[in-house]
Amino acid sequence: MGVFLDTPLLPRSARAGDAAADARPDATGLLDRFGRTATDLRISLTDRCNLRCTYCMPAEGLPILPKEQLLQRDEIGRLVGIAVQRLGVRQVRFTGGEPLLRRDLADIIAACAALDPRPEISLTTNAIGLTSRVDALADAGLDRINVSLDSVHAETFAQITRRPFLDRVLAGIDAASAAGLSLIKINAVLLRGVNDHQAADLLAWALAGGHQLRFIEQMPLDADHAWDRSDMITAAEIRARLDERFVLFPDEEPRDGAPAELWRVYERDASTEPDRSAPLLGRVGIIASVTEAFCADCRRTRLTAEGGVRSCLFSHTETDLLGPLRAGATDDELADLWRDAMWAKPKGHGMDTDGFVQPERSMSAIGG
Ligand code: SAM
Ligand code: SF4
Repeated sequence: MGVFLDTPLLPRSARAGDAAADARPDATGLLDRFGRTATDLRISLTDRCNLRCTYCMPAEGLPILPKEQLLQRDEIGRLVGIAVQRLGVRQVRFTGGEPLLRRDLADIIAACAALDPRPEISLTTNAIGLTSRVDALADAGLDRINVSLDSVHAETFAQITRRPFLDRVLAGIDAASAAGLSLIKINAVLLRGVNDHQAADLLAWALAGGHQLRFIEQMPLDADHAWDRSDMITAAEIRARLDERFVLFPDEEPRDGAPAELWRVYERDASTEPDRSAPLLGRVGIIASVTEAFCADCRRTRLTAEGGVRSCLFSHTETDLLGPLRAGATDDELADLWRDAMWAKPKGHGMDTDGFVQPERSMSAIGG
């Protein structure tokens, strides 16, 4: 694998070689040309998955990487160490593909938890197989967990994921609660005509279990390239759907770079005006990646399962770290490659521009 840099969406004059404007300062953190600093690292641990969510993977799956091309446990420990100790990363999230398919997940977490300073460690998972693993993961140092669940109706769940495993997911969520990993965040994608009418049901279920539900707008990252901007369920529609059964008020806590806009949820009582003095049922998040993009405040850097830095989900290129690492690069050299990759981070994902082209890789292959 070679080293490629993203082409940032910069004005031509800025691209054309104004060396002073283009030169990366010799900074310690993961800065980009637009003044953002990445402190939140997402690492994909595998491109494999045991579900086939329609908005992510094709029914037949995708060709999988040979094991030796994946970041190994020690390599992950070293790269996370560089990120945390030299580049200012404070939060590390493991994702995939399905990260629970890595048998060495607890060891990977333990290696990260042993770092000084210790990063906050979280996991995004579909929760299949979590029941038997969650205690070991929590003991290893896992701080927080996000579980993806788009429907609590078995038939709809199977329609979206193409697998009949709702019970296993629900058992995994219960086990995570029992292991003390609350507050569990539940990620849901709504699809028109499939589960959009169930949005309020899902919220009622999450509130009853004490979980924080976050709806994510569907992004053009499906392997089938079937995403259609005019057909996706927007944040505004999600709020309208929830409004049918609940009253939502904007949360007053500062968002602080978080992708989800949080709303306080109250019972809708048709007999009275919506009232903030009513008992608070909980909060719901809406991640409007498409219609209310938060790129200007993005704090993410990503590593793919084979050790490529992606400065943005929608990048078309990656900067390989694993090749140089295996070829004997020093920590300083790897840190500089990472800084270079992030310096070239695009200003925005560009979904609303005419020239937008969906990345070749789908969400499961990038690491969501
Ligand atoms: N398999 C794990 C899971 O599903 O939680 C981790 C990887 S998955 C790619 C991470 C997140 O990406 C999930 O919450 C999933 O819903 C979300 N996702 C996948 N494809 C998406 C798309 N096209 N648009 C929006 N979110 C998507
Ligand atoms: Fe697998 Fe997660 Fe993609 Fe669903 S969203 S197919 S669980 S990687």
